[in-house]
Amino acid sequence: MKVLLLGGTGDARRLADVLAAEHDVVSSLAGRTGEARLPVGEVRQGGFGGVEGLTAWLVEHRIEAVVDATHPFAATMTAHAIAATSALNLPLLVLRRPGWHEQPGDIWHRTPDAATAAAVLPTLGQRVFLTIGRQGLAAFTDTGLWTLARCVDPPEPLPTWCELLLDRGPYELAGERELLQSRRIDVLVTKNSGGNMTAAKLTAARDLGIPVVLIERPPLPTGVATVETAAEVQAWLTR
Ligand code: NAP
Repeated sequence: MKVLLLGGTGDARRLADVLAAEHDVVSSLAGRTGEARLPVGEVRQGGFGGVEGLTAWLVEHRIEAVVDATHPFAATMTAHAIAATSALNLPLLVLRRPGWHEQPGDIWHRTPDAATAAAVLPTLGQRVFLTIGRQGLAAFTDTGLWTLARCVDPPEPLPTWCELLLDRGPYELAGERELLQSRRIDVLVTKNSGGNMTAAKLTAARDLGIPVVLIERPPLPTGVATVETAAEVQAWLTR
């Protein structure tokens, strides 16, 4: 089958490895992250130009099925994939790794979005560690709290209201503990991305009794077929 694999995540890159043996896969990346490791096989980069552009691209490249393995917070791309595939009556499957779940000892404050997260912060601490990526930083500009923001790539323009830490996971527990302690962090903010690559910060926060503000995922529209593993994607394509 000729498959469009919407990526930009480690999950999508690993999925491309798995699918390449049986299918003709084109991986698509937004093309914004520097030094991103490319998936195996054919890769295209850059936006499609909205739903219209994606629809035209799917037709032009004779795509028979679309797998959306974008990040759980890449809601616009997912909405575009749903609109384009339903207009063309093409099968669409969304691969979403499971979110993180609260464990005994966690002090979690769940919020629906970044603005709500920013609003609760002053009640929880004075020294904030933001691990939400560079795109969501704007919501935290006016908290008035000392803030350390960790991002893979530098935000543009560079923020003047926070300290910046440029780093790329995976992160180990010892390193995360050391960072929280040495920077005297008293509240952590993260998106509920799920996965193992960046989960150590949650364990470190639990060990140190540091509260976590967890921004929940944007909900998927109802009726969209969703799975959690590469094996399930393989089985779906075979069917
Ligand atoms: P988004 O808000 O859902 O998408 C914004 C626009 O970027 C889309 O309308 C599309 O442009 C383009 N785009 C996004 N993903 C694309 C893909 N795989 N291939 C081609 N174009 C794509 O996405 P985002 O949150 O900015 O994330 C961008 C990419 O980074 C995604 O691929 C995602 O998997 C990855 N990522 C996101 C996060 C996060 O926290 N949001 C974290 C890690 C990785 P057009 O409308 O022009 O087609």
